[in-house]
Amino acid sequence: MQEKGTISIHTENIFPIIKKFLYSDHEIFLRELVSNAVDASQKMKRLAALGEYKGDLGEVRVEVSVNKKKKTITISDRGIGMTAEEIKKYINQIAFSGATEFVEKFKDAGDAKEIIGKFGLGFYSAFMVADNVEIDTLSYQEGAEPAKWICDGSTEFEITKGKRKERGTTITLHVNKDSEEFLEESRIQNVLDKYAKFLPIEVKFGEKDKQVEDGEDKEGKKKWKTVKVDNIINNTTPLWTKSPNDLTDEDYLNFYKELYPFSEEPLFWIHLNVDYPFELTGILYFPKLKKDFEIQKNKIQLYSRQVFITDETKDVVPEFLMLLHGVIDSPDIPLNVSRSYLQSDGNVKKINTYISKKVADKLSELFKKERESYESKWEDIGLFVKYGMISDEKFYDKAKDFVLVKNTAGKYFTMEEYGTHIEANQVDKDKNKVWLYATNVAKQDTFITDAVDKGYDVIVLDTPIDSHFINHMETKLENTQIKRVDADNIDKLIDKDEKRELVINDEQKEAVKGIFDKAINNKAYTVAVEPLAPSDAPVSVTMPEFMRRMKDMQATGGG
Ligand code: ADP
Ligand code: MG
Repeated sequence: MQEKGTISIHTENIFPIIKKFLYSDHEIFLRELVSNAVDASQKMKRLAALGEYKGDLGEVRVEVSVNKKKKTITISDRGIGMTAEEIKKYINQIAFSGATEFVEKFKDAGDAKEIIGKFGLGFYSAFMVADNVEIDTLSYQEGAEPAKWICDGSTEFEITKGKRKERGTTITLHVNKDSEEFLEESRIQNVLDKYAKFLPIEVKFGEKDKQVEDGEDKEGKKKWKTVKVDNIINNTTPLWTKSPNDLTDEDYLNFYKELYPFSEEPLFWIHLNVDYPFELTGILYFPKLKKDFEIQKNKIQLYSRQVFITDETKDVVPEFLMLLHGVIDSPDIPLNVSRSYLQSDGNVKKINTYISKKVADKLSELFKKERESYESKWEDIGLFVKYGMISDEKFYDKAKDFVLVKNTAGKYFTMEEYGTHIEANQVDKDKNKVWLYATNVAKQDTFITDAVDKGYDVIVLDTPIDSHFINHMETKLENTQIKRVDADNIDKLIDKDEKRELVINDEQKEAVKGIFDKAINNKAYTVAVEPLAPSDAPVSVTMPEFMRRMKDMQATGGG
């Protein structure tokens, strides 16, 4: 049996166009071919699990190899394979129509870079690096004949009866002159590490050295020897695919190390898990911000069914969370489209909103359940929270209850707590309150001391985001002005007529109380030091009603 044919296509020069468009991103051919092999393997496993395959399943893994001499790369699987009919249908017609559609859509696109890596070009991306591609396959179906497909990158193909005896598919690429970099093992290892690290089916690429124990020497010391073991690229069950209930803190920390080997421990994490109205799993980590404030973007990796897609998560992740680390996996994010389409995509918007909500909920929970620990992390979390409040109204509505301000004494307050805290020594309830803040505690020290001496409280707002935060809060807080402590004489900043006159701090209060207590030296009397209006006495000495009566009785001779 031999059959020749022409791939149904209108654009004669499809391959040059594919090559041109994906020029800087040739490496994705491997992602596409390996994920096809994984798909076929998973289908095979599912069929076996359903009892629809009675044969020997064997070891279902994908193998990638390079032959430098022959200038070939092969991708082999033990998946479902294809019959000649299926090749015609899936490779000649359907896969090709995908590639054609790609070219049709984007041959006029101005910015080719925008779409690179976003379009799963599928099987035909092989022609970005190969002049000649062969498929050797045997379907799992009983009595199936092996089939071999050869195509030289023109629209001509050839199908012959193959020789393959083992179920599955091998794709052989005859690497073209421009792509010989892919005949280097290190290059392939690299690409596999990038795209295949968490694929659900084992991917083997050659062998690697491993140190194993080899008995003991004469002094009883352990001996080691080097052996060759399979070089397996991937962790087939990454943490985000597991149930949060089965995981410990250590699991999350270890996975973080797996993702970012040389990073400091993260502060905390959020396990995302949703299946309606879109499918999404993932883990987001809050990193410790570096002191030198080096912005690390693109630390979140986007996957689609465990296939790495990109670390450009703009639009999918709210902008204020772009500094987070971790992974997001969703088959519902359209990957085969341009940036502008991504922005207007309904699912992407929903996912963005969902992530924002989840982060708010987690922060709220941490704040409520573990306030102390939350406060200790505030210096790192604060940036996200404030940025989020400024840029996302829904986030603001939740965050207003867990955003913190710290005063110069190092005490943290929520906004509501702070309002109450300063009310006591500033104003009548419905008049203006003034939040005093310092942007540089060392430089503004004399102003801070002056304000604190007069009984006012001063908060510290000294991070880069704070000036924006202050502007935003001024539009949000009612009856409240936010003023820098050195902006003017303190008595002008806080209008004298509108506040009570006597203001002393707790320490002074205690000192005054101590003097009175000592002088009176009688437990029957209660000394109270209250910050009252200037006309009133600042100190009151009181005695409970019944005691005073007793005293009166004694004085009148028990009458
Ligand atoms: P997609 O993977 O999005 O369907 P591709 O162009 O990558 O598009 O592949 C087209 C089709 O070819 C697949 O859907 C599948 O039916 C078939 N195919 C490709 N590679 C293999 C393989 N290794 N084993 C079995 N079938 C395959
Ligand atoms: Mg595919």
